[in-house]
Amino acid sequence: MTAVFLRKAFAFIAKGVIEKEQRSQSAPTRYPYSKIFQHGMNMFLAASYQAGNAQYFDESHFLAQFITKPISDWFSGWDQDVIEKLNLAEEPFYGYGAFAYRRDENVYIPSSECYEFLETQDSDIVEGLDERALYEKMIVLDQDVYCRLRRYIIEHPIISIEDMREMFLKLSNPAAAEALRSAYEEIKEECYRCPRCGWTMTKGKYGYNCHSSHCTDTTPVLTDEMRLNVSDKKLYRLKKGVMRYFSAPGKLELDIVNFCEKKNIQWVLWPYKDKYDAEIRFSDGEIWEIDAKAYRNPITLRAKIQNDNGFPKGEYTRGYFVVPSEYTANQQNYTSIVNRALTNQKNVKCVTLKTLKTEIARKERTCHEK
Ligand SMILES: [Zn+2]
Repeated sequence: MTAVFLRKAFAFIAKGVIEKEQRSQSAPTRYPYSKIFQHGMNMFLAASYQAGNAQYFDESHFLAQFITKPISDWFSGWDQDVIEKLNLAEEPFYGYGAFAYRRDENVYIPSSECYEFLETQDSDIVEGLDERALYEKMIVLDQDVYCRLRRYIIEHPIISIEDMREMFLKLSNPAAAEALRSAYEEIKEECYRCPRCGWTMTKGKYGYNCHSSHCTDTTPVLTDEMRLNVSDKKLYRLKKGVMRYFSAPGKLELDIVNFCEKKNIQWVLWPYKDKYDAEIRFSDGEIWEIDAKAYRNPITLRAKIQNDNGFPKGEYTRGYFVVPSEYTANQQNYTSIVNRALTNQKNVKCVTLKTLKTEIARKERTCHEK
C-alpha cells in the first residue's frame, strides 16, 4: 500500500459523499447508493487491514464511524511504523476536517472541507459534478453571453420561474438557456434565505445549514421575513456546487471591479472566459490579472495552485490570487502558506481582498503623481 493508493481512496470517498447527497435529493425515499463511495471505502478498509487495523464495516457503520470525524482520526488504530513510513502527516488529505455531518439516520451532508478537498483532485474525479457540468456548458458560449450568464448566476442564488423565463428571453440563445437551466434546482423543502450569502438555510439535525459553515457560524437569528414560501410559488436555487464555485468567489470578483469602477480604473471581468477572473488596466498602461478564490483551507488552495501549475501565464505586470479578508481572521499565516507555492513566479502572490484594494489604490496614486 502506498500514499498514492490512500490519496485515491480519499478522492473516491469525497466524491462519493457528494454523489450520495445528490441521489438522496433526487430520490429521497431510496437509499442513496454510490459505487464510487463504496470503492473508496473498500480501498480505505483494505489499507487499514494492511496497517494492522483489521475491522469489518458495512456502509452505514463506516459512515457513522469515520465520515463525521477529522481525517487524522481515521488512522487511530494503525501501526505507528506504517504511519511514519507513509509520511501521512505530510499528505494533503491528512489535515482535513470531517467530510460530512449527519443530518438524519442515513443522510450525511458533505462539509465544505469535503468540497474543497475534491476540488484539488484531477478532473476525471471532478467530472459529473454540478459545477463541472455547468462549466462545460458555459465554456463554449461566446464571450459576452458567457459574461452575462456568469454575472446573473453570481447575483441570483434564488430565482422564481418567472425570473428564469425572463432570463431565457433576454439571452435568446438555446445553449445559454440550457446552461442557465442546469445551474438551478427546484427548492423542495421549507427553508430560509441565508442573510449572509442569499442561498438557502435548511434545517438539519443540529440547526440550520447553508452551503458554507461560515454562514451558520456568523448568522444572526433567522426571522419570518427570511422564510421562503415554497408551497405557494415555485422557487429555484443554485445547485450547491454552483453556489460554492461560481457564486461565492464571484462576489469577490464583483467587489473588486466595483472598487475599480469607483476609482475610475479600467476593468474587464472574465477576460478570455475562465483564464482570469478580472483584469485591471491602470492609466499608465500597466495590467494586473486577478484570480478570486474561496477556499477556507490554505493548504487546499496551495494544492489547487500546484495542480494548475501556478498562475496562468500572460502579458501582465502583476498577478494576484485573492481570498476573502475574513479567511485570515483565524489563520493569520493563510497567505504565507499559499505563497510558498508561488516562489518561482515573482510577480504573483496571494493576498486578501483588503490588501489587494490597498495595492490598487497605491498603484493608482503613483499613476497620477507621474
Ligand atoms: Zn449562506
